[in-house]
Amino acid sequence: MQRQSGWKSKSKQDIKVIYDFSEGYKDFLDRAKTEREAVRCITDALARNGFDVDPSREKVFAVNRNKTVMAFVRGSSDIIEGLNIIVAHIDAPRLDLKQNPLYEDVDLALLRTHYYGGIKKYQWVACPLAIHGIVIKADGRSVDICIGESEDDPVFMIDDLLPHLSRKTQDEKKLSEAIDGEKLVVVFGSLPLAGTEKEPVKHYILKILEDKYGMTEDDFITAELEVVPAFKARDVGFDRSMIGAYGQDDRVSAYPLLEAICRVKEPRRNCLAIFSDKEEIGSEGSTGVKSHFLQVFLDDIVNGLGLKADESVIRKALYCSKALSADVNGAVNPTFQEVHEKQNASYLGRGPCLSKFTGHMGKVGASDANAEFVAEVVRLFNEAGILWQTGELGKIDEGGGGTVAKHLAVYGMDIIDCGPSLLAMHSPYELSSKLDIYECYRAYSVFFAA
Ligand SMILES: [Zn+2]
Repeated sequence: MQRQSGWKSKSKQDIKVIYDFSEGYKDFLDRAKTEREAVRCITDALARNGFDVDPSREKVFAVNRNKTVMAFVRGSSDIIEGLNIIVAHIDAPRLDLKQNPLYEDVDLALLRTHYYGGIKKYQWVACPLAIHGIVIKADGRSVDICIGESEDDPVFMIDDLLPHLSRKTQDEKKLSEAIDGEKLVVVFGSLPLAGTEKEPVKHYILKILEDKYGMTEDDFITAELEVVPAFKARDVGFDRSMIGAYGQDDRVSAYPLLEAICRVKEPRRNCLAIFSDKEEIGSEGSTGVKSHFLQVFLDDIVNGLGLKADESVIRKALYCSKALSADVNGAVNPTFQEVHEKQNASYLGRGPCLSKFTGHMGKVGASDANAEFVAEVVRLFNEAGILWQTGELGKIDEGGGGTVAKHLAVYGMDIIDCGPSLLAMHSPYELSSKLDIYECYRAYSVFFAA
């Protein structure tokens, strides 16, 4: 059971292939910081690789409300025998602007936010931030917004208290209470509008919004604007073996999945890649995997195959499916090793992590994969020479987490978690290993081909 750094088994040529693969990934990270942007990147790539929205074709994709994508490749076997499914998510922890966000105080224009997903609030202050999203205007037209990403764009930030004055207000509190959710307020401007007495800074900002986007203050209500870190993906380490970037949970699975589904050739079983939304808040809502979009998509696919999309056909196909829940695990942290039980933890650079179960406490909320299915996946990976590891998320009762696995398991399919491990997971700047990303791509490709 002794495993070691995957790099040891890689030749110079292998390392070049791995590093080359990661260039496409970094580009994806920079172009797809929100779920809507990820959908755009994914559908562009699918279209370039011969996928079509016509469900009678061999390679089909569909989009749900600009936030979820499903991509299907027809196999030679009957769909009722089940599909090979891999599901990753494309939402990431962030700060959403509130519906009525803009106000002026102490000569500054400020934006109120409501955080989305599991963040450590103190990590979001005093760092450069960008705003991405969409505004639907009163006349129904939509405007895409992305400020803070190009070199000459301004960025935004959230203030933090200077150490000289934070003793009582922050330093003596618990870390989780040092920054209150309501204090995640974005500094947006400071120039007053000439000749305006009341809230001149806010009015100057509103004037810029009007001039640049034709947007009024009321339009914030019908907008989805997400505040994300303004950093670009970069190589990390003197040897450039790692990648630092925002949103790698779960783009670090979504990108290898996209590459794998685009390259599937004449598979035996029908293949399905799902890029889902809202995983970070429990897969709820019309765009999370708990919605019925999967059945709607499969109805179209079955019709496209010339069969009658009978409910029992879809039910049987899902029951007989085999799936990987492509999501991240937390790698052993070099300086907080005490939260891991290291015999059953995952490590950066040892390949994708197979997690039989997630959940918390006594496996509460877990989808615990069956040993038979674990054996099947292990055999598949071993035969293909994929580097992989197993890992639990931390020590028992240390905390825990979940993935979409349990939401797909309700159809009765076999499913196991399989994705790269990250350091600084759920922080504004997560760290991945280039080896894990490439090995994941190989693992997903082998799974589709099985
Ligand atoms: Zn995730």
